[in-house]
Amino acid sequence: MKINSTPFGGAKWLWLNGHTIQWDAATTNVSDHALHYGTGVFEGIRCYDTPEGPAVLRLDAHLNRLFASAEAYDMRIPFSKENLATAVCGLIHQNYLENCYIRILCWFGTHDLGITSGKWPVQTAILAWPWRALFADQPAATGIRVAIAPWRKIHWSMLPTTAKASGQYLSSLLCTQYAKRRGYDEALLLDATGNLAEGAAENIFLIKDNKVLTNDENSSILLGITRDSIIDIARNLEIEVTVRALTMEDLFTADYAFFTGTAAEMVRVREVDGRQIGTSGEHPLAQNIRSYFQDITAGRSHRFSDWLTHIDEESILVTAARNQHVAMRTGG
Ligand code: PMP
Repeated sequence: MKINSTPFGGAKWLWLNGHTIQWDAATTNVSDHALHYGTGVFEGIRCYDTPEGPAVLRLDAHLNRLFASAEAYDMRIPFSKENLATAVCGLIHQNYLENCYIRILCWFGTHDLGITSGKWPVQTAILAWPWRALFADQPAATGIRVAIAPWRKIHWSMLPTTAKASGQYLSSLLCTQYAKRRGYDEALLLDATGNLAEGAAENIFLIKDNKVLTNDENSSILLGITRDSIIDIARNLEIEVTVRALTMEDLFTADYAFFTGTAAEMVRVREVDGRQIGTSGEHPLAQNIRSYFQDITAGRSHRFSDWLTHIDEESILVTAARNQHVAMRTGG
């Protein structure tokens, strides 16, 4: 597949409110509530090329989190999870994509600009395009350099931090701007108490004394789906995983640190604020976890094979026809 050099790789089709339309034909209203107040919820998902064709990683988990995020903001998504799963697979198929990134966004559209009316229609869009891993230019084992941001992560008592909501990303923006201005690759955010929270769009893991450590929602983090996969993989490899609050001391005395996320996948954090974490070179446990993860995404592992939703052309056509039939019967 030829990848166009435009930011979205020349993907031609997107999905908007139940219809597949040309990317350039998709418009929205400047009075959309979400444009003014950040009232959207979204998911970032990856699809990988496997010997059995493209396969979406943990689609069910992403859809569950999308609906949970919507519920946190009292937003009713006007499609079922099954509808959206079919739409995601259909879009990948229609754009002839293999390895790609998928974005589902639900947002409050146009009605009025009051904060409270609740009368805004919920708009739903799905985009899919080729997008390399976030830090793909740095070899995974070499890793990235990270700055601790002066802005703290919003505390869970202030916003539902386990929801993936658009407005909450102003925090990530400020922190990455801070880090990039100083020549770092990414920002690490502390929580309101000074413990580690997470990266601007990644969860954090440490390895110390051959044990894996990570934090949870009590540290105001988004419960990443990659985080969940890495915990399952590590436990499957019989590596001890402890989930608890992590301190700055834990970080600076760790043997190894890494970030996880759908966009970043699994990337080493080799330096924080100019201080090296652990020794140079790859940690054997991290290497094992990474290659297990890569085996799963490449469709080479039988374990966790249920994490992959294969793009099945026939079922896309059958489901699309059924949805159309239902829409015709109900006048939709
Ligand atoms: N934390 C934040 C703030 C994020 O935006 C992301 C990316 N979704 C993550 C963690 C990692 O989550 P996931 O593994 O589900 O992509």
